[in-house]
Amino acid sequence: MTEEERRLDGNAIGGLLREIFAMEMTVARGTCASCGAVNEVGRVHVYIHAPGTVVRCPSCEQVLMRVVRGGGRYWVDMTGVRTLEFTES
Ligand SMILES: [Zn+2]
Repeated sequence: MTEEERRLDGNAIGGLLREIFAMEMTVARGTCASCGAVNEVGRVHVYIHAPGTVVRCPSCEQVLMRVVRGGGRYWVDMTGVRTLEFTES
């Protein structure tokens, strides 16, 4: 089977993403893309400036995430997070 024959579209991961993002987020462990520090989400530094929220690494203060909510939509920028790790419950 070729690579192209094995390729699916994004609908194939809908269930997987729903499982992951329904998990308890505050105990998920995020790795900072800037300094590599690993911190539980509950320990990061959060600055709320409506309508946006900025999340910073407690080790190096680089931006991990930006979340903006408005007009019935959310925009999530996770450029500063290299990985998120969850424990299956
Ligand atoms: Zn960092």
